[in-house]
Amino acid sequence: MAKIVIVGGGFAALAAAEEIVKNNDGSIELTLISRSRNLFLYPALVPYVFGSFDREDLTVDIAPTMAERNIRFLIGEVTRIDSATNTVAYAGHEGEEQVSYDLLLIATGRQLVVGTVPGSSEFADHLLDTDAADKLRARIHDFRTGAIVVGLSPGSNLPIPVCEAALAFAERFASGIGNGSVSVTAVFPQTLDDAFQGANLFRDLPNEFKRKGITLCENYRVERVLQNRTLDADDNAISSDLTMLIPPFKGRMNIAGLDRHVDADGFIEVAENLRVKDSNRIYAAGDIISLAGPRFGYMALRQGKIAGRNLLRAALGEEPAEVYEHSIAWAIGERYTGPIFFHYGFWDESLDDFDEEVLFGLVKPIRSKYGHIKGFGTSLAVP
Ligand SMILES: Cc1cc2nc3c(=O)[nH]c(=O)nc-3n(C[C@H](O)[C@H](O)[C@H](O)COP(=O)(O)OP(=O)(O)OC[C@H]3O[C@@H](n4cnc5c(N)ncnc54)[C@H](O)[C@@H]3O)c2cc1C
Repeated sequence: MAKIVIVGGGFAALAAAEEIVKNNDGSIELTLISRSRNLFLYPALVPYVFGSFDREDLTVDIAPTMAERNIRFLIGEVTRIDSATNTVAYAGHEGEEQVSYDLLLIATGRQLVVGTVPGSSEFADHLLDTDAADKLRARIHDFRTGAIVVGLSPGSNLPIPVCEAALAFAERFASGIGNGSVSVTAVFPQTLDDAFQGANLFRDLPNEFKRKGITLCENYRVERVLQNRTLDADDNAISSDLTMLIPPFKGRMNIAGLDRHVDADGFIEVAENLRVKDSNRIYAAGDIISLAGPRFGYMALRQGKIAGRNLLRAALGEEPAEVYEHSIAWAIGERYTGPIFFHYGFWDESLDDFDEEVLFGLVKPIRSKYGHIKGFGTSLAVP
């Protein structure tokens, strides 16, 4: 029996697992190792900090689904991959444990790099993990008047939550913006177009920001955050009583044995069939792979499916010939589901390969919840 091991429990890992399970004729033993029993739903973070979603909307327990589909599910942090012995080491309940593989998929996502901008740890919030999101949620809840700055740190390539947060702040404090007691500034270290790197949003964001009273500040690289302002390299200051700054990401360098396969930022280099360069048995998919431009769950999903199919082919002794074609513009659909929250990709029914049951049906309930958020589904500006 061929042993396929998947490391990760996010969008890419589950998409690959789904593909393998669907087509397994009984000749494959599938194991999934993740540090958590939960799938973390990053797109739910912005609605969460604005109080539209609850804690339980951020995660889905995948253990029951893994059991139903006969996937051996191991919970633990993978620490090492040994391609000489084809084994994965992980920190299990009883110390280090090992699993052997014939074929391996690495789908571990990316790693947040906080504190790169001096002062940001003390004076800025972000929302990319639950602790940080809880803190920001409380600050938004208590905020009454003053200046709000939301921005991308230099080196970060996650513009969507910045735009979503700016629009959500503008909605929350519409009357304050109207009477001048609140201001919202959205800051990007490059132009807005460059921030999206070719991902055509089909949406006139500069005009939408203007209409909602948001000041758009492009080509402003936040170099320092102080208690009540941000500064760029030339000490140009923007006043701020509440600063939300999205930190940059790196690949995961905390798994030993991958050094020769990663680029300078720790992202894994793959061929177009998603097989890791210089390796016969290892594949990678999702945010962990080395690609230019922003990374989206939708891409992770498509990559996971292709990696899953190629793993199956390789397990059956066939050529892993399916190719991942990277297209940022295509990944963002023409219609959006709401004026604030973008929910592109697998949330977007207008895409050709939209699949309501995607990821074993695990994200369907949360997706339907977006429909109930205030300010959702009305007055969408399409240029
Ligand atoms: C605020 C926000 C909003 C977003 N909104 C959208 C959206 O609307 N649409 C969209 O398409 N994309 C969106 N994205 C992007 C999307 O969330 C990511 O592209 C997607 O999560 C990538 O999937 P992944 O499987 O590669 O990685 P992840 O989802 O990060 O999953 C990685 C998995 O690997 C596990 N893992 C990591 N390291 C180890 C280890 N050493 N051992 C064991 N397990 C490990 C983790 O626990 C996790 O289960 C958003 C992102 C953010 C931050």
